[in-house]
Amino acid sequence: MTVFVCAACSGPLTEDVQLSEMPSGPEFDGRVGPDGIRRAPATVPRGFYALDPEPWGPPFLLTDEPVAMFPGGPCASPPDGAGFLMSGGPRDTIVLHCDDAPELCTDRDGGHWGCCGLHGENGLNQLCPCGTAVGTRISECYTAYELHLDPRRVRAGR
Ligand SMILES: [Zn+2]
Repeated sequence: MTVFVCAACSGPLTEDVQLSEMPSGPEFDGRVGPDGIRRAPATVPRGFYALDPEPWGPPFLLTDEPVAMFPGGPCASPPDGAGFLMSGGPRDTIVLHCDDAPELCTDRDGGHWGCCGLHGENGLNQLCPCGTAVGTRISECYTAYELHLDPRRVRAGR
């Protein structure tokens, strides 16, 4: 079991979580959840974490292939409309259920909010209580529902 802590202040960020394989992610069923918010089922069940081997999040690189910006996410073009954006972000981000990191608070600035939740396109949006940005939560109606901790900004506490 592991508690991830902030690399800057060593404060705990997550519940005690256990490593699992990276799940494929449940299909979005379009249903409104019990809290009245439309979003996908959680990728990782509570109490577990997975390491995502694929590049995740910003910076985004240009490609000719119509790929999703991130798994479960939309295809998007840069502002000039030429080509598509693909993630050039870090590999091995730590993927958790959003409810397993109760210490984190969402950055209110930075244009992170979409129509129903957080779209993740502007990068790190989850802050340690010390103010350090440590991860990205996505919870928009067209994205997966998951939290990615940046492996360069957190470490395993025990
Ligand atoms: Zn901190």
